[in-house]
Amino acid sequence: MSERYNTHIAQCRECGEEHFGNWCEEVSAALVEAQLCWSCFFWLRHVQQAGAPNQVRVEGQLYYILPDNATQVVSAKGSGGLTFHLKFLDGRAESFVTTTNLWTCGPIPEAFRDRLPDNAVFTDHKGERLVARGAIRSWEEIERYIEQRERRRK
Ligand SMILES: [Zn+2]
Repeated sequence: MSERYNTHIAQCRECGEEHFGNWCEEVSAALVEAQLCWSCFFWLRHVQQAGAPNQVRVEGQLYYILPDNATQVVSAKGSGGLTFHLKFLDGRAESFVTTTNLWTCGPIPEAFRDRLPDNAVFTDHKGERLVARGAIRSWEEIERYIEQRERRRK
């Protein structure tokens, strides 16, 4: 177990909150240098990686796709090795992706949503129908969703 350091940030430069934490040397030093609370530090790192091709944002949730490795045991994979089909909405050439190694970081806090807007949708195995929270929607609904999203952006 590495040594822990009491960390105090009087006022996080992102959210303005006071932060007390007990972190390893590396994290403690990074928080002090950046003058950020742990939560803002964590989410700003994901903002910096917003353009990473494996970062996935669906309905305000953050995920990462890690390499699929057929020899890896499912318990060592994201989401227990479940299969997910995704369609990226950011105009990339290979927009339809299937993965069995999807890791979630949980819901993106409201304060970071504008910097981490949705960039994908979950779809069926053909990438033709939207799958969201257990409900399958039609392709027309996907197109409407993309349109609304584009309108909001303008
Ligand atoms: Zn903060």
